[in-house]
Amino acid sequence: MTRTWRLRLLATLGSLALVGTLACTTAPARVPEIAAQQAETRAHDARLRAEQAALQAETADRVAAREAAQTAVAAQLSDQLAADRAAAEQAAAEQAAAEQAAAEQAAAEQAAAEQAAAEQAAAEQAAKQAAAAQATARPARPAPAPVTAAPAPSVPACVNDSTYAGPPFYTSAPDAEGDGSNGRLPASAMTRLTWGHDTAGTPQYLATRAAGALDRLNASYRAAFGTDLDLDLTYRSFDEQVRMREALGSVAAVPGTSSHGTGRAFDLQEWSCYGFGSARYQWLVENGPAFGWVAPGWARQNGSNPEYWHFEYTG
Ligand SMILES: [Zn+2]
Repeated sequence: MTRTWRLRLLATLGSLALVGTLACTTAPARVPEIAAQQAETRAHDARLRAEQAALQAETADRVAAREAAQTAVAAQLSDQLAADRAAAEQAAAEQAAAEQAAAEQAAAEQAAAEQAAAEQAAAEQAAKQAAAAQATARPARPAPAPVTAAPAPSVPACVNDSTYAGPPFYTSAPDAEGDGSNGRLPASAMTRLTWGHDTAGTPQYLATRAAGALDRLNASYRAAFGTDLDLDLTYRSFDEQVRMREALGSVAAVPGTSSHGTGRAFDLQEWSCYGFGSARYQWLVENGPAFGWVAPGWARQNGSNPEYWHFEYTG
């Protein structure tokens, strides 16, 4: 199109040169013809200008449209860029958050692992210390060997199979104001046993030396039989001896003469496990004297008043 218009313009310029030439060389007789040609030329010029203006307008429209399109594209690109940037920022933020969370989790896991390691180390240290302490500890003091060999496993355990149906009697507590006579021992001369009591739980008292000797005898007995002696009665007050004499008659000692009134006698429970001929009775008869405790002759099986449960301190 541009080339076409250029050709037209050249043609127009050629026409104008021809007209000039004709104007200079034409004779006056041809003036009307020349005027007509000039008018035609002016009209032609007018058309050219109009066409040129139209062309310019069209071009301007196209330029404007192109610019508008470019502006739109640019705006679209800008929006896209902004959207991309926003998306990128969001993605970066999400990644940062994820990384932070991962870092925190890793830190927590590491802390937990360190704590577990510390606990394990402490446990191992404690185990080492315990092992070292055990290794350096003095060996446990061996239990004193029983005076005689341990009984055969056939020795029956002691059970309460008493057949006594009389009135109950209990060990007496010493009187703080005791004058020291039989059945009236002062508390200051007595010791309460830490291990022995009757079936009712009554505390047991003996004269202090007799109590210590019985402690040692009981320890040896326990090493042999695995249990403490089952005590029934130890110290007996004068008043209790009176009550017993009244209840039992000559079987009980005259008040003021009982060895229980001196705090130097004990009675075992009247159970068959301690009976005459039993392994326990035999052991006590044989080993008691080493601790000062004996079965008096009158209480032996062939004695005047057989009582397998009765022992006295002679130390
Ligand atoms: Zn007795």
